[in-house]
Amino acid sequence: MIFPGVAEFRASGFQPKVAVIGSGPAGISIARILDRANIPVVVFEAGTDHVTDQSQDFYKGSTVGDPYFDLDVTRIRLLGGCSNHWAGWCRLLDAHDFDKRDWIPHSGWPIAHGHRTLPRCCSR
Ligand SMILES: Cc1cc2nc3c(=O)[nH]c(=O)nc-3n(C[C@H](O)[C@H](O)[C@H](O)COP(=O)(O)OP(=O)(O)OC[C@H]3O[C@@H](n4cnc5c(N)ncnc54)[C@H](O)[C@@H]3O)c2cc1C
Repeated sequence: MIFPGVAEFRASGFQPKVAVIGSGPAGISIARILDRANIPVVVFEAGTDHVTDQSQDFYKGSTVGDPYFDLDVTRIRLLGGCSNHWAGWCRLLDAHDFDKRDWIPHSGWPIAHGHRTLPRCCSR
């Protein structure tokens, strides 16, 4: 269910155990995992369901280091986050994506492929 604002959410009486901030791929993914585990979850999204200048203005900022496009153009502040940029190029990670590579400083992940554990706050 989508509530248009905080007032409607409060009026619903829904009492989530977890609040996720942001409905980009990260937020939606964790919310779906929690929902499947029957853990009541709410996702708070700052934007609406379409692009507005007012929302994008919050993403104005400067980029240092490698030259890049303006932040408020490359980042999208609305339902779905930056996945609204996608043109259908999406796939699951491979096991080797998590590997440490000796020739790349700070590479490697503290989790392995397929490693899924609910956050401690959510364990029953
Ligand atoms: C131009 C571009 C093209 C890309 N193309 C691909 C692709 O083809 N395939 C691919 O796999 N990846 C692609 N990526 C990468 C992918 O989009 C990002 O890695 C992914 O969107 C990051 O997800 P996220 O949830 O961490 O952040 P985001 O997608 O940035 O989501 C953050 C969410 O939080 C919301 N938010 C921000 N501040 C607040 C707040 N204060 N309160 C509440 N909500 C807030 C935002 O509105 C947004 O919905 C692309 C990225 C860009 C920039």
